[in-house]
Amino acid sequence: MRPKILVSACLMGHLVKYNGTLVPVHEQLKELNDKGLIIPFCPEVEGGLPVPRLPAEIKGGDGSAVLCELAKVVRSDDVDVTASFILGASKAADLVKENGISLAIMKDGSPSCGHTRIYDGTFTGTSIPGKGVAAALLEKLGVRVFTENKIETLYAEVVL
Ligand code: SF4
Repeated sequence: MRPKILVSACLMGHLVKYNGTLVPVHEQLKELNDKGLIIPFCPEVEGGLPVPRLPAEIKGGDGSAVLCELAKVVRSDDVDVTASFILGASKAADLVKENGISLAIMKDGSPSCGHTRIYDGTFTGTSIPGKGVAAALLEKLGVRVFTENKIETLYAEVVL
């Protein structure tokens, strides 16, 4: 049986992005979805945040530091939204455990889904190496996380 893949819901064309915009869906994601292999998930919406919402960034570290309570997630108006991000990440973790998911494709740069880069907490458009909160938790659980730039790699692994 082919493995199920958790995918950031915005990459599947769901209206979940903070700024209320839609992302075009990659052809290979459409194919994987047609094969019934994709479980779309948005940690921020599942954590109770609305669409649209103010942008948020991690201050003081990355998602791994947030999970250790060494950093926090703040909105651009300085409101602390860490609890919502941790709730969304823990719901992603539950989904992974319930469905035996070992693969994920997550949107890079996001304070939840980022896998190689996040923004630095200054809201100046400055990106730094690091993971988002949900991506960090899924990796702790042994999930192999790919960014949207590695869809072809994962597709080849799963389908060929
Ligand atoms: Fe939701 Fe993740 Fe997409 Fe942000 S990047 S909109 S948290 S699925």
